[in-house]
Amino acid sequence: MIWEELGPQLDAIDAEGLTRRRRILDSNCGPEAVVDGRLLLAFCSNDYLGLANDPRIAQAMADGALRWGAGSGAAHLVSGHLRPHHELEEALAWFEARHRAIYFSTGYMANLALVPTLVGRGDAVFADKLNHASLIDAVQLCRADSHRYPHRDMAALERLLAASDARHKLIVTDAVFSMDGDMAPLDTLYELAEKYDAWLVIDDAHGFGVLGPHGQGSTGHFGLPPSGRVLYMGTLGKAAGVSGAFVAGSARVIEWLLQRARSYIFTTASSPAVACALLKSLDIIRGEEGDQRRAHLQTLIAHLRQRLAPLAAAAGWELAASETAIQPLIIGGNQATLAVAKALDERNIWVPAIRPPTVPKGHARLRISLSAAHTLEQVDRLADALTDIAAHHAAPAPAGAKA
Ligand SMILES: *Cc1c(COP(=O)(O)O)cnc(C)c1O
Repeated sequence: MIWEELGPQLDAIDAEGLTRRRRILDSNCGPEAVVDGRLLLAFCSNDYLGLANDPRIAQAMADGALRWGAGSGAAHLVSGHLRPHHELEEALAWFEARHRAIYFSTGYMANLALVPTLVGRGDAVFADKLNHASLIDAVQLCRADSHRYPHRDMAALERLLAASDARHKLIVTDAVFSMDGDMAPLDTLYELAEKYDAWLVIDDAHGFGVLGPHGQGSTGHFGLPPSGRVLYMGTLGKAAGVSGAFVAGSARVIEWLLQRARSYIFTTASSPAVACALLKSLDIIRGEEGDQRRAHLQTLIAHLRQRLAPLAAAAGWELAASETAIQPLIIGGNQATLAVAKALDERNIWVPAIRPPTVPKGHARLRISLSAAHTLEQVDRLADALTDIAAHHAAPAPAGAKA
């Protein structure tokens, strides 16, 4: 039978120690997670501002559901585009200082909409090698020639652009790389897009709400002009603490997406209550409280790095060069990384171990992610535990494990 092949394939995944399992949380999203009856100090979520469990946003969602109902009932282009969805798009466009924004149910769907709507057969896409999986899928879907340049290598990108005679060119990049926490050089990318008349698609899943003035995102951080060639994709399930995503750009290009993007047209609009929650979240993000949360997050990042840098050097680990809330500690081998994650777990601390193929071989790591909901004491608990583990468990990283 056709399904019987799956058994050995699943066994093979298991034999490599690569079976993924979901842990069931009996607690809300936050620094402390209840799993299997244990209370764990967690550094896993992308809830960078600590808003996922904010009672004001939950209340806005509850009020929104009572006012507008649980479901939208149809796609946006049919009858599912309710007033809260529209207000959210207008608020997002205003916040990003762009002409228009369009709301999607998820960032994955926004990316699948963006790339194939802008380029197709005979065109060329230029993508950073460490781009998020959803961008890789989006590039495959568009049928354009795909060129991947080494991570953040602008000289290599320029050589590829100069050599291309494609009709339309599109550069696509994560703004903050999800497994490394470092940033794309958006200023140089923008210059290259101008020089070679290319689209520039920026996926700011990890920058929106966190970076730039008032959390406007990575384009604000770099001060990019609101050019028609720049498309900004921000997700709303990470720092914004709810779910969904948006693309902001010129009025014309957003209209083009609305007319053409299949992952927008052929899907039911998300619940209007989600839009109500997001309007509340956006108020917090761009206000004074948002500034305070971002400042606290920066304090935590600086503190963690200060504590981990000497420890990593002594243990033969590598603290990635990241200034963002994603702070990877590169251990090297898979087993060594799992051993450190397990030793943390024994101390009731939860940090995900990220292994190949998500990251390159020999670069397995702990992906520590910080949130404004963490306290300095909690960050110290993590640093203390890692100090203890480094003293007892760490084997030197294998040669070649450095980036
Ligand atoms: C999380 C993420 C996405 C997907 O966004 P969702 O709203 O979770 O679907 C896209 N790009 C990057 C870089 C991400 O980290």
